[in-house]
Amino acid sequence: IRARETPMRARALVDLAALRANVRTLKARAAGAQLMAVVKANAYGHGAVQCARAAREAGAEWVGTATPDEALALRAAGDRGRLMCWLWTPGGPWREAVEADVDVTVSGLWALAEVAEAVRAAGRPARVQLKIDTGLGRNGCQPDDWPELIAAAREAEEAGLLKVTGIWSHFACADEPGHPSIQAQLRVFRDAVAYAERQGVEPEVRHIANSPATLTLPETHFDLVRTGIAMYGVSPSPEVGTPQELGLKPVMTLSAYLASVKRVPGGHGVSYGHHYITPGPTTLALVPVGYADGIPRAGSGTGPVLVGGKWRTVAGRVAMDQFVVDLGGDAAQVGEEAVLFGPGDRGEPTAEDWARATGTIAYEVVTRISNRVPRVYV
Ligand code: PLP
Repeated sequence: IRARETPMRARALVDLAALRANVRTLKARAAGAQLMAVVKANAYGHGAVQCARAAREAGAEWVGTATPDEALALRAAGDRGRLMCWLWTPGGPWREAVEADVDVTVSGLWALAEVAEAVRAAGRPARVQLKIDTGLGRNGCQPDDWPELIAAAREAEEAGLLKVTGIWSHFACADEPGHPSIQAQLRVFRDAVAYAERQGVEPEVRHIANSPATLTLPETHFDLVRTGIAMYGVSPSPEVGTPQELGLKPVMTLSAYLASVKRVPGGHGVSYGHHYITPGPTTLALVPVGYADGIPRAGSGTGPVLVGGKWRTVAGRVAMDQFVVDLGGDAAQVGEEAVLFGPGDRGEPTAEDWARATGTIAYEVVTRISNRVPRVYV
């Protein structure tokens, strides 16, 4: 018996060179527009500080987050560039955001009132981006309320409280090329921008494009594109294309290292509920990651894993910390690498494969990988 050196239980390799290449590719696609690197949710699971820095190195003029806390964490980590966040609730850290020179998003009068209060406390004007709901039906000012919001923002601007730095919106169906809502949203957006400009608003940036719009619809680029998923080398949707077709390099590779390899007889029940019964004598390998690591439990019996150069399927249920694959007649070593997903160039499944196997989108596959999995940056 000899102790084996297992590098670690599991790791998510994050290829920052690939991310930088993707940023350059996206900037070329949106030539003439600036690029906002969307690093919300810990950069879709890839690590916000590292990805924001890499995106800036590759030319991203802006970084965007959902929550103000995410934006403030980037400032605390030393990011000094243009930064915007958009998901505000009453009582949020407006003052801290103003002091940190973060562009805040305002969709309604309540938010404008909180900004004004924060500005008085901070002693400096705010940079405010106004968001219009052009049809996503989520956050954003309803078009009917837009004149009232513009009037209030102009008044605050004239009082020296703020500068309206941007007007923006977000698509509902840009990942379904040709969807009629795309042109309808664009019309509402153009009208809203034109109205604001007639009232004297002079935004630095007008923006509506996410990754799929950046990749497929040049007329949506305006002054700035906000790219998340494509920057991580993941496809927005099968309709938009595979990462290879889009010229994107997948950034994350998720691996785990086999914790057990053993021979069992036929008729052996595997994992909770015995949803898998070995069809004959076989070799079972234990992959030491589970739903606490962000592996979808919906991958029970469906999720693909590369072990020993072949695709295997999760046998039985994904548990909190581990799952099993059936190697059939093949051998494997404890400590051997099992690749759950990656770029696919070693024959491993991709995040898109896991999305298909588990009935979700590739965004969720990468974003849900939890903090228990160490990120290794290359
Ligand atoms: N802009 C906003 C407001 C978002 O919420 C998101 C993410 O959903 C993005 C841009 C980036 O979208 P994608 O990851 O499709 O590029």
